[in-house]
Amino acid sequence: MIDQNQAWRSSQRPTWAMVDLSNLCHNYRVLRQTLDPQSGLMAVLKANAYGHGAVECGRALEGIGADWFGVALPEEGHQLRAGGVRGHIFCVGGFWQGQAARLIADEITPAIFRLDMAEELNEQARLAGRIVEYHLKVDTGMGRLGVRWDDLHSFAAQLGRFEHLRLTGLLTHFAAADETTPDFTHIQIARYHETLAILTGLGHEIRWRHLANSAGVHAYPEAHGTLARTGATLYGLVRDVLAPHPAPLDLRPVMSLHSRIILLKRVPAGTPLGYGGSFRTSRESLIATIPIGYADGVRRALSNRGRVLVGGRFVPIVGRVSMDLTILDVTDHSTVAVGDEVVLLGEQGGERLLAEDLAGDAGTISYEIVTGIGARVPRYYR
Ligand SMILES: *Cc1c(COP(=O)(O)O)cnc(C)c1O
Repeated sequence: MIDQNQAWRSSQRPTWAMVDLSNLCHNYRVLRQTLDPQSGLMAVLKANAYGHGAVECGRALEGIGADWFGVALPEEGHQLRAGGVRGHIFCVGGFWQGQAARLIADEITPAIFRLDMAEELNEQARLAGRIVEYHLKVDTGMGRLGVRWDDLHSFAAQLGRFEHLRLTGLLTHFAAADETTPDFTHIQIARYHETLAILTGLGHEIRWRHLANSAGVHAYPEAHGTLARTGATLYGLVRDVLAPHPAPLDLRPVMSLHSRIILLKRVPAGTPLGYGGSFRTSRESLIATIPIGYADGVRRALSNRGRVLVGGRFVPIVGRVSMDLTILDVTDHSTVAVGDEVVLLGEQGGERLLAEDLAGDAGTISYEIVTGIGARVPRYYR
């Protein structure tokens, strides 16, 4: 376990994130238990594991038996391989022209949604002397990546010529599995099964049937297929991820974000604070400055709105959040001192701030909060 005070003592800027790998593993086990023991569970590690550190999270999960990992870009898959992750790596976003050879070399399975992708993959598989597996992405209503379900028949008819490829998976992505009305998701599930029937009719053995993201796993057991893809719930994001019913799962937040007070000052009533003087003190005030700003993931939308924890109590962010610094009004705190720890995300003294809370205050979703924690914030692992 890493000492929470390490960042303060180690002559670095006292701003850091803690990633609790035991909570990550707990969440993985909880999700695992909601699935059939035969089906796969893909831990989605894209975007640096939603800001938590892809290699560290991937290795911790592999250590408890996880064997499927999802990335959005081939580059993210290569990073996992270089970091020692050995299980299946699936690239949900396919690949860019010119990337197929390295995908094959690193045994990363791509989603395919255009014929020229299959052509390039097939050619590189031929050159490597290999039979390469891929999954087909079908758009059943999201309208984003994937061959449209009603075009799939003609698309699939052309796949037979790729002699060095094997189609082993079919995936789709839900657009509204977190919503209270299930109608659209039911339509997507039905379209998925139509396209699955087309592919099996053409003789493909589709071992990996995957539809569900976090919200889908939670609310649509009938859509668990043989592989589920979870990101958000793995990192303990819940309130703005899952539909309110059925009952929420026992998931724990994984990341917390910390800083320390580097300056305290008394200012008179009427003092403008920060860029544009958007906050003006209404009384003599005690103002604290912390060395963390929007470049570190404290969203600028939290200016004059957000809260942080100091000494186990909530204090308001005042003035505009700037790139490297944020200002707090600690007037009502009798005991603050330079060096005191500030929690921007996480728990302190029994109070807590979840990514969902920050998202609510900033007008966004928890995904954007955690993926937005800046690259210059060091992550410590527990
Ligand atoms: C990001 C992503 C997921 C994971 O979604 P969560 O809501 O975080 O569980 C699953 N599938 C695809 C295709 C994705 O892009």
